[in-house]
Amino acid sequence: MKDVIIIGGGLAGLSAAWRLKNHNILLLESSNRVGGRVMSERRGNYWLNWGGHVYAGEGSATDELLKSVGVKSTPVPGTLSAMHLNGKLLLSGRVELYPFRAPMSWKSRLAMLTAGAKVRLAVMKYSKVAKKRPLEEPSVQQQRILDFMNNKTFSEFTGKLPTDADAIFRPTVSRSTGDPEQISAGAGVGYFDMIWSKEGGLSKNIIGGPSTLTNTIASTLKHQIELETEVLEVI
Ligand SMILES: Cc1cc2nc3c(=O)[nH]c(=O)nc-3n(C[C@H](O)[C@H](O)[C@H](O)COP(=O)(O)OP(=O)(O)OC[C@H]3O[C@@H](n4cnc5c(N)ncnc54)[C@H](O)[C@@H]3O)c2cc1C
Repeated sequence: MKDVIIIGGGLAGLSAAWRLKNHNILLLESSNRVGGRVMSERRGNYWLNWGGHVYAGEGSATDELLKSVGVKSTPVPGTLSAMHLNGKLLLSGRVELYPFRAPMSWKSRLAMLTAGAKVRLAVMKYSKVAKKRPLEEPSVQQQRILDFMNNKTFSEFTGKLPTDADAIFRPTVSRSTGDPEQISAGAGVGYFDMIWSKEGGLSKNIIGGPSTLTNTIASTLKHQIELETEVLEVI
């Protein structure tokens, strides 16, 4: 009898397994590799990133995990924002001004600005709600975050967007969690809070590529991980 069964060997499952490694645990992963949406490949002195590649800095949960696993990270030089839309590549300047510089119809631009302003205001509320309160249990804080704007989906919150505006919002949330129609408005807003936050934002690369992290965890816990084992039902 196991203490804990973890389903999925993406970053979430692997971090849970790492935290619980001294218990009798088993992690079940349906594919033939761990990492999920984190994957990198070495090419000589370089590495290619196919998924999650920039990580939060000092004091963040990810930073704590990197230190605990013994994997090194380094600040990414240069600018971290860019956008390619309708044949134009924007590599500099403020993200808020991208809708004015990218080629798109005025209808899309207006929808983008309206939805962007709504998300900005919601991010301001979210950052107050998400802030840790004195003497608070982490589970209470977590529940407050989960309850934030959880009565509608992110796409219901932004409203239906024209194609170009949708093309800007959609990949930002879907690469991390789910599609705007699947995740709560609060989860989507929380994601924008993270990417717009200057202090806690994503700013570091893992030396050797992000698979260094997932593979190091997996090799340490190899007897507690079953690959090619899909969970079909949880009773
Ligand atoms: C192109 C791209 C760029 C990104 N950039 C960044 C970034 O720079 N910074 C950042 O922080 N995040 C980034 N992300 C997001 C980040 O990669 C994800 O949020 C994170 O990796 C998700 O981890 P997870 O464990 O929740 O899910 P996943 O990585 O999706 O892992 C889920 C795992 O569960 C397994 N699984 C699913 N169903 C079952 C089942 N029934 N039984 C057993 N196993 C199952 C899957 O095979 C998978 O391995 C990016 C994502 C993409 C795609």
